[in-house]
Amino acid sequence: MLNFTVGPVMSDPAVIEVAGHSTPYFRTPEFSEIMYENEEMMLEYLHAPAGSKCVFLTASGTGAMESCVMNILNGDDKVIVINGGTFGQRFADLCRLHGRRLMEVRCEFGRQVRREQLDILSAQGYTTLLVNMDETSSGVLYDMPMISQFCRENGILLIIDAISAFITDELSMEGLGAAAVITGSQKALAVQPGISVIALSPAALERIEENPETCMYLSLKEALKNMERGQTPFTPAVTILLQINRRLKMIKEHGGIDTERQKTAALTEYFRERIRHYPFEFVAEDRSNAVTALRTLERSAKEIVQILKDEYGIWACPNGGDMADKVFRIGHIGYIRKEDYDILFGALDDMRRRGLL
Ligand SMILES: *Cc1c(COP(=O)(O)O)cnc(C)c1O
Repeated sequence: MLNFTVGPVMSDPAVIEVAGHSTPYFRTPEFSEIMYENEEMMLEYLHAPAGSKCVFLTASGTGAMESCVMNILNGDDKVIVINGGTFGQRFADLCRLHGRRLMEVRCEFGRQVRREQLDILSAQGYTTLLVNMDETSSGVLYDMPMISQFCRENGILLIIDAISAFITDELSMEGLGAAAVITGSQKALAVQPGISVIALSPAALERIEENPETCMYLSLKEALKNMERGQTPFTPAVTILLQINRRLKMIKEHGGIDTERQKTAALTEYFRERIRHYPFEFVAEDRSNAVTALRTLERSAKEIVQILKDEYGIWACPNGGDMADKVFRIGHIGYIRKEDYDILFGALDDMRRRGLL
């Protein structure tokens, strides 16, 4: 099967090789060394400011989102959440669940957040802002420099969910003044699901230190304390951490994070140029390189996804809820080559011949 979803995605054969072994014991100096390397490479690729730290949680991306809401924020915070789809909604739900005072800035599906929407919240005591850099459900890439500027001017702590945008889109933690950046193993890192990563600036570290402990498994205080010796408080997804190590090193070997991003951008461009000739519309006005969401003009999106899967061996990414019939997505992350898109376009051409598009 060819997989064009947004995670889990196809892995490089070198990563699959790492996955194909029995799991080693991990309370060893050798495994600690791997963890230190992972931390160092992550902080480098994210352009984290001096004094930043990185933790690896054995949890999907949502675990890291929840951990940030529990450990970096506290009951005194007034939180702004940019909500333009499934993942913005998830941040809002997490804030409510954990009793955080919350203002949602709602964006129409696929639409950019505007400075005016934020400006009306100036000087009202807001302390933190949570944003999904790429709202993966619509593929909109939020205007991070604008959001960052607003946060700086208002002394607001910025927390970025870059679970799908890490590697695919330009991201400098220091440049944006972000307190924390989250990513996950099964998106552009393109290894198996099960690990989420949080990079923490000195400002976030200070808050974590001061906040009372409210959880055990997702405790960042515990994760940070253990990371000092290159370890985790509980048994981690060892084999995935090894795959991450391989993948991060390969990025370096192939020219670095910018080269990797440019490769994804070129692939995305190739897809977007060609898809214009099919009966779909782009959903997002500013698009992340991670994914392209397409609105179908004639056929049901759900049916297209089903036919691609059952008759052509291709996974496209369906949307849920009331979008199911109207929107589907094609991802640009993972071990994808141009030839793979040629196969997808071949399948779409064939569907058109059969009157199915
Ligand atoms: C995939 C994703 C998540 C988390 O998903 P999990 O299924 O918990 O890994 C969160 N935010 C964004 C923007 C994502 O793309």
